[in-house]
Amino acid sequence: MTQYEKNFDAVLSRIEAVRLETNEHQIIKIIAASKYVDADAIRNFYNIGQRAFGENRVQDMKEKVQNLEDLPLEWHFIGRLQTNKINTLLDLSPTLIHSCESYEMAQEIDKRAKVKAKKQPILLQINSANEETKAGITPQKAQETYLKIKEELPNVSLKGIMTIGAHTQDQKAIQKSFETTYTIFENLQNQGAKYCSMGMSNDYPLAIKCGANMLRLGSVLFK
Ligand SMILES: *Cc1c(COP(=O)(O)O)cnc(C)c1O
Repeated sequence: MTQYEKNFDAVLSRIEAVRLETNEHQIIKIIAASKYVDADAIRNFYNIGQRAFGENRVQDMKEKVQNLEDLPLEWHFIGRLQTNKINTLLDLSPTLIHSCESYEMAQEIDKRAKVKAKKQPILLQINSANEETKAGITPQKAQETYLKIKEELPNVSLKGIMTIGAHTQDQKAIQKSFETTYTIFENLQNQGAKYCSMGMSNDYPLAIKCGANMLRLGSVLFK
């Protein structure tokens, strides 16, 4: 077995164990956060069964998309988005932009998508622990902003929410940030929210326990 196969097997077993403990009907999608590796590594990961990859930088994503055009991959954008990169990103037709951090950002995406006659799927990023260093809507404003985007911006299609767990070793604080996010997600399910994207290499079992159905995993897969 290659190192990637070992990593993948270990992660899949862990996810399955926690999932069965939590809710056997939950379907969990893995986005392989491939920012650490090159196109060849992604190809190797594709060959052991992974289809969805997440990139943080538009330029890196573009190079990898072009290099891997022969494969039926799904591309997710998960990093901080700069306004001047939106056009390039939309041209890559990403399956989902996880990191729409504000109403204004949704507006910018909407405006450019309209020109291209596209409807871009996005998630609204929640700053679930109110951290100054992090992008995203505060939990207090999340629901209102979600509805406003949904009503006013026809060229983006909201599919749910995303968060990065609290940046701390304190498991209780991380759990609280996930629970806060899940509560928002629950309240938005009747508005068509389908994905709750939370959980990274260090906290994904906890995220699953709190209701995540989309995980963004990098180092635990590619190390
Ligand atoms: C890099 C990254 C991940 C994956 O991080 P790991 O800790 O390596 O699993 C997930 N989400 C975002 C937004 C990232 O930038």
